[in-house]
This record gives sequence, structure tokens and C-alpha cells, in this order.
Amino acid sequence: MNFYSQWRQAPQLLREDTGFAPTERLLQAIWRHQRVRRDKLTTVDGRRVRVWHPGFWNRGAGPDFRNAVVQLDDDAPQTGDVEIDLTSADWHRHRHADNPEYARVILHVIWRATSGSAPAPALLLEPFCDAPLIELEQWSTSAAISDLPIEFTGRCRAPLAELPESSITTLLQQAAWVRLQQKAAHLAAVARHADWDHALWCGLARALGYQHNTWPMQSLADRLPILRNVARGDPLHWQALLLGAAGLLPSLDNTTGADRALLQSLWDIWWRERDRLREHQLPAGIWQLRGCRPANHPQRRVALLAQWCALDDLPRRLEQWFDTSLPLPQMPGTLEQCLRGSADDYWCWHWTLSGPRQPAPCALLGKQRVGDLAVNVILPWLWARAADSPSRQQRVRECFLAWPATQQNSVTRLASQRLFAGRRPSVLRSAAGQQGILQIARDFCQHAPATCDACRFPDLVRDFAASPTAASDS
Ligand code: SF4
Repeated sequence: MNFYSQWRQAPQLLREDTGFAPTERLLQAIWRHQRVRRDKLTTVDGRRVRVWHPGFWNRGAGPDFRNAVVQLDDDAPQTGDVEIDLTSADWHRHRHADNPEYARVILHVIWRATSGSAPAPALLLEPFCDAPLIELEQWSTSAAISDLPIEFTGRCRAPLAELPESSITTLLQQAAWVRLQQKAAHLAAVARHADWDHALWCGLARALGYQHNTWPMQSLADRLPILRNVARGDPLHWQALLLGAAGLLPSLDNTTGADRALLQSLWDIWWRERDRLREHQLPAGIWQLRGCRPANHPQRRVALLAQWCALDDLPRRLEQWFDTSLPLPQMPGTLEQCLRGSADDYWCWHWTLSGPRQPAPCALLGKQRVGDLAVNVILPWLWARAADSPSRQQRVRECFLAWPATQQNSVTRLASQRLFAGRRPSVLRSAAGQQGILQIARDFCQHAPATCDACRFPDLVRDFAASPTAASDS
């Protein structure tokens, strides 16, 4: 053993001497990689457990693993969630019993059995680990631990691995293009019942709602024509109207200090307007705040929407941005300038209206968000509007395919691991590659169990490999 490995081991050895206990994170790694004697697994009440798939690690709210496939004795395999806890009593201590997110838990994996238990069968991990805990802890610090184990990746991984890089690019760009056209068709449908500008506002608002709050943001966008009748035009007035109509203005009672000034100004405006807008106000309860990261808090998103409303005719600005026909690499930067509202000293330093000032700036709009808005809303909108202009549609397509990658989300991260298992095809460095993988996840992964049974995508990849289009442009 060399000096470095001795040095690395020392603290753990010390801890084992003093009664080393695992963390939940370590137990999650053990389960995720199935560092257990899989042929020996039994529940606490003596049923044989076969794990066909451990499920997908959930880093957000809810059970630790989603969509596991587990078989007890000779019962049919079941798909559901797995919760990992240190003790059986944690099920009640962590209030999982009252939380509907845990209703699909089919196995409670624990380190130690104590009084109190989950309704799901319990599996005690310690007797089945395939190595001493100290060794597992050292293993768990390696970088590869966050990857999906190769045996639990998708069945499409093998045929995809045989495709040349250029064919993977073509395939993902084709899937991405399907996605853009679907979004364009949705925007066109909204425009048929209202107009193109309203379709854009709805698309932007929905995108700001990000997963949890898409519908409340859509409802707010539906109220924009009414709010425009009373809006004075400046960002503060728009903030008051939108946050008030959204039911997101917090009470003044619990807010103190220098940061109260903005809230006071917003309430001063909203008090004057709220009677005539009362029937259009959203109930505060429709916003989902649980599991929402501070950067995605609806108050911030509504504040950004208010900045755009205060800009002089955002839809025309976006058309002008596109019509400048700048070289493609300059398009993301200029779009960011186009979407940037007036400087806001409050929102640069606060996540919410009642939160403390942050030690570092937190801009309302960053490069990643601009990229998301471009590929999900603005380019589909421009493409849908250009139905009579093939050259303009071609320019939208070029812009879309050239757009740099945006931030990965949990869906793209997981799908990349299932499809490519640690490989990173170059197309994933583009937003179109990410959109393509999202479309494949939606079309195939969402409709198949974690074991990929009956998924047609592997066959589709093989057919694609044999087709003359495999190496051609999408
Ligand atoms: S469900 Fe289909 S597309 Fe998804 S990983 Fe499995 S084989 Fe691939």
C-alpha cells in the first residue's frame, strides 16, 4: 500500500474503530450499484427478493429510487419506487406516511430494523452487502459512482454504440426537429384562437413555470390582456400587477429591514388596483413551492415576466433580433441582450420577496435560461410564423441546430446515461442534441419499464443504421 492510499484510508479506519455508521448517501450508492449479494436477498419477513432493476436515483423530492422493478417470491415483478432509510422508524420520522409522493413505494430498504415500519416490505441491507462497509465507503468516493451501472443502462445502448458519430448526430437531430415542430404546432394552435403575440407570451410564461408551475404561469399569461388595460408600463408597476394577480405577494407583517422597501412599494400599487382585478386573481394555493429550487421560485419568474412586459413590444424585438441575420455563433449573446430588462437592484441579490440578501449576485436571467427559451419557445414560434417563407424557416432550422447546449436537467442526464452509458457523443454539446434525447425519453423511455421490456427503440436504431439516411443530414 503506498503512502497516498494509507493516508486516504486512515480517517475511515479511525471511524470504524469508534463505531462507523453509514450515511443514507452511502446506502443509496450501494443500492444503485447493487453492491449486494443479489441471489441472497430476502425481506425482513423472509420473502425472496429479485431486483430486476434498482430504479433511477431521484435527487429531488420523493422516494430515493423511481421505477424500480422488484419481484417477491413467485409473485409477478412489480414496478414502483424504493425508499432508502437508515432505520425502519425513519418512515414515520420523515413523515413519508403522510406524503402522497411515497404512495408507490414497493420496498423499504433499511440499514437497521427498529420499531415502527413502512407499509411496504422491508429489506435489511447490512447482511447482504458484498463487501465490508469500510470498503464500500472508500469505493463510494470514486467519480464513477454517479453514473448508472452499465448493467442497468438501456437495451438501446448496444445498437447505439455501433452507430458512427455522424449517424448519432443525424438521429438525435431528427428527433429534436420533431420536438420543435410539435412545439411550433402548439403555438400555432394558440395563435389561431388569439394571435401570434399572445401565443408567444403564453409560451414564454409556460417556460418560466418550469415543470411545477407551468399551468399557473399559463393562467397568468391569459390575464395579460386585462392587466395591460391598467398597466402603467414601468417594471415596478408590472411587478405589482403580476405578483398581485398571481397571489404571490407575501404579507408585509413578517418582512422587516431594508428589504421591506420593495415589498411596501408593490403593496402600495396593488392596494390601489386589486379591487378591479379581484375576479382575475389566481388563488395562491395553485403554485407549487415544494421541491422548488430558489432559482425557480415563482416570485422570481413572475418578476422576470414583469420585466419583459415593461419592455417596448417584446415580440417585435424578438423578430428584429432574428432578422438581423448575424452569424449563428452571435445569436445566443444577442438574444440575451434582447431579453434583458432594466437593471434591478433587488432581484440581483434576492431569491424571493421575503428572503435574505444573498452574498453573491443571482441574476433573474442567465445564459442557460436564454438557451432554454430559445429552443423551447422563441425558435418554434419564429418557425411557425414563417410558414410561408421557406428561406426564413431554413434560417430558424440552422439557428436551432447550431444553438449551444443548455444546462442538463434530470431527464437529459438520466436518458444520456441510459442511452450512451458515460459516452458523450458530440451532438450532446448542442441544444438540438439535448432536445433530441428529451424527445426519445418522452417517446420511448416514458412508456417502458426500467428494464426496457417491449421498447421498440433498439430495433428502430438497428433499422436506422441499415437505412441510407443514417449518415445523411437530418
Ligand atoms: S426504454 Fe427504450 S429508449 Fe429508453 S433506455 Fe430503454 S431501450 Fe432505450
